[in-house]
This record gives sequence, C-alpha cells and structure tokens, in this order.
Amino acid sequence: MGSVANVAGVVGFAALGAFAWTFAEYWLHLSFHVRKGWGFDSRAHLDHHVHASWHFDPIITLAWAGVLAAGWGLARLFGLFVWAPFGFGFGGGWVVGYFFYEWHHAQSHLRAPRNRWEVWLRKHHLQHHFGRPMHNQGVTIPLWDIVFRTRDQPERVRVPRRLAANAVLWLTDDSGNIRPEYAEDYELVGSIEAESERQAGIDRARAYANLEPIA
Ligand SMILES: [Zn+2]
Ligand SMILES: [Zn+2]
Repeated sequence: MGSVANVAGVVGFAALGAFAWTFAEYWLHLSFHVRKGWGFDSRAHLDHHVHASWHFDPIITLAWAGVLAAGWGLARLFGLFVWAPFGFGFGGGWVVGYFFYEWHHAQSHLRAPRNRWEVWLRKHHLQHHFGRPMHNQGVTIPLWDIVFRTRDQPERVRVPRRLAANAVLWLTDDSGNIRPEYAEDYELVGSIEAESERQAGIDRARAYANLEPIA
C-alpha cells in the first residue's frame, strides 16, 4: 500500500471513530436520564441538571479515563481486523470526538456563541435543560435526535429567571435581562426568588425525574 493511501486510511478511520463517538454521545446521555440516578455517572449528570450550571467536578476525570480506555480497546479491537494503525486511527478519532463534545458542552454554558453551529448547539442543549430533558440527547450534532425522533426545536427556549444567570453565563446582562442579540431564541420566565431549601429540594427531585425545572 502506498504511503498516501496509508495516511488517507488512518484519517478515514479517525473520522469514522469520531462519528461513532456521536452515536455513543447520544446513547450514553440518554442512559444517564433513563437510569434516574442509578450509577455515579447518571448521578453526576443529573446533578448537572439540578441547576443547569457547569462546574469542573473531579468526578469528570473518571469519564476521561473511561473514554481513553474505551478508545484503546476500540483501537485494539479494530486492529484485529484491519491494519493496526487504522485501528489506532479509529480509537483516536473516538477519543478526540469525546473531548470535542466535553469542551463544547462546557462552553455552551460558559461562553457566548461565535458562529452558527455554536448558536444552534446552545439552543438545542438549553432546550434539553429547560424544556424537555428527554429530548435533544445529542449535543454536538442533531443527527441522532432526528433519527430517533427526539429532536425538539421550539421557537424560543423558556429559561427560568431564577436560574438563568448561573446556568448560562452569557445569556443575560447585568440587570438580569436577556441580551438583545439572544432575544429571538430565548425568553426568561418566572420571577427571581431567594433560593430556599424547599426550592432546592424540588429542583433536585425534578432533575432526577427528567422534568424541566419550574420557573
Ligand atoms: Zn448542560
Ligand atoms: Zn442531560
């Protein structure tokens, strides 16, 4: 095999591995919700839903280790059937796909969108948080939500006013109103109230029942 074909093959398998990750992204995310807190990974994800805010949690390093191990396993598994570097291309693409997802999920809560894809990703994911938690399980691409009919794209995402500032750092201005450039896609609902223990309990129970937070 010529070296150009070899490189093209590795790149092709890497693309395949990244694509395979998007499928895992959908099903892993769905399983976190379906399991309703059974398993630490499900709990870690549903805790993220309680206030819909993103913080670095050391437990995430376990996910990194798991994904790296799975990437290694996939590389070796593919290596049984194809030229070994193609297998490592696949495993590497899978790992890169995961970290791409991880980064952009965090960024969707923390940083304003910079391009059309980021605008889409944020709206798709925030509707998952604030609208229908059993929909929009994909984060980086809409494909699997379309295939499995779980895509929900409202005209505007309704964000509870009391959660907005901490959940989505870029969405509101200093007085707590939606920034004008996002007013077409988002609206605030409900009132600001002091966080009570009762409200915290309700938020937690609803997140673990796959219900959106009440305004
Ligand atoms: Zn999120
Ligand atoms: Zn979720």
